[in-house]
Amino acid sequence: NVRVRFAPSPTGYLHVGGARTALFNWLYARHTGGTFLLRIEDTDAVRNTPEAVRVIFDGLQWLGLDWDEGPLPGGGARGDRGPYFQSERRAIYDRALRFLLDHDQAYESDGAIRFRMPRKKIIVDDLICGEVCFDCTLEQDFVIQRKDGSPVFHLVNVVDDLEMKISHVIRGEDHLSNTPKHLAIAAALGADAPRYAHIPLILNRSGSKMSKRDIGASLSEYQDGGYLPQAVRNYLCLLGWSLRENREIFSIEEATARFELDQIHRSNARFDADKLLWMNGAYLRSLDVDEILPHAQRWLESAGFPVEKWESAYIKEVVLLIKEKVKTGKELAEWAQPFFREEISFQPDAVKRFLTAAGIQALRELLADLSEASDFTAAALEERFQKLARTHGTSVRTYVHPARVATTGREVGPSLYGTLTILGKDRVLRRIRRAIE
Ligand code: GLU
Repeated sequence: NVRVRFAPSPTGYLHVGGARTALFNWLYARHTGGTFLLRIEDTDAVRNTPEAVRVIFDGLQWLGLDWDEGPLPGGGARGDRGPYFQSERRAIYDRALRFLLDHDQAYESDGAIRFRMPRKKIIVDDLICGEVCFDCTLEQDFVIQRKDGSPVFHLVNVVDDLEMKISHVIRGEDHLSNTPKHLAIAAALGADAPRYAHIPLILNRSGSKMSKRDIGASLSEYQDGGYLPQAVRNYLCLLGWSLRENREIFSIEEATARFELDQIHRSNARFDADKLLWMNGAYLRSLDVDEILPHAQRWLESAGFPVEKWESAYIKEVVLLIKEKVKTGKELAEWAQPFFREEISFQPDAVKRFLTAAGIQALRELLADLSEASDFTAAALEERFQKLARTHGTSVRTYVHPARVATTGREVGPSLYGTLTILGKDRVLRRIRRAIE
């Protein structure tokens, strides 16, 4: 049975490459009915802080990648192969070191412990890259425990995969060159190594490996930037995997049903921030407003609006009105300002262009007309605007632009009639009066 793991080192941020690795492991576990583990590779004591671990928990939870075994965000753990923090597994590594020393697979030199690397060709039979032959005939013995007594990545990584009964190691291709060492350690411990599947690198715009410094490299940019996890998850799937028919938008259920390791591409994936932005807009347009609501509440809250004062039915109306027109939740919150602030702010340019003498005259006519309105639905309002324009022998735009600026402070926005409907008669009249004064 399939047991896979995501084994991040807590560096203080979750790289999109790491998020993609987590996603592919999760998809494989869910596709096969296997188990998805989270293991925190926190042997580097300096960078290892509770906040850095929190970033990993938050990122995975935001993406909806739940783990069956591993540490729990509130403390404690789930699963019987823990602890799941490497910093708490020292006794297990000591035992493995003892075994290697006793079997002459490792030896002390200058106070450190070195692994006796077999000097031969080692073939990595990778599930994605195929058979890769590494010539290790000139390989040096390498340190598996430092002088200060701390165990080294190669050792702990392999020991944990064995102890945690990992069946498949799905990880970034940057670890492929470590794999001969890992196979050798597993063999020296007398164990069968897991199967390895190395997924292609993610490249940035200029074609080099996407690094921490690249804009858009950290998952938190999307968490904080008004992206939907559904869209980010979908986009991450495409970084190295696709449906056979090349359709780009698909649900997580569909991806789960169809995810196979042998379909993972062998060529590197290119990170395209514009495409992710486009995809987020597509998800905003197509997702049901109920699915967007919890995220929208967060976006509005971060924009400083007291969302708890508003009924969710009202928030939904606003979201429904705006979501067709924007690509991110940040934009959505910007456009939503007139619905959640009494004191709206005005774009100076919009005021200059449309609240002119003629604009104010149009608003006077509109005010007189709308004061009589009993039906404030979008359709009724549209009819009223058109009738008003006909009466005055002018175009409907004469009223639409000043009305938009007066009620929202901006020149562009979602449908004006829909906007007025949601604002309601009282607020609309009040704002038009204020603009006239
Ligand atoms: N802690 C390692 C990393 O973040 C894990 C490598 C692996 O998945 O085996 O790169």
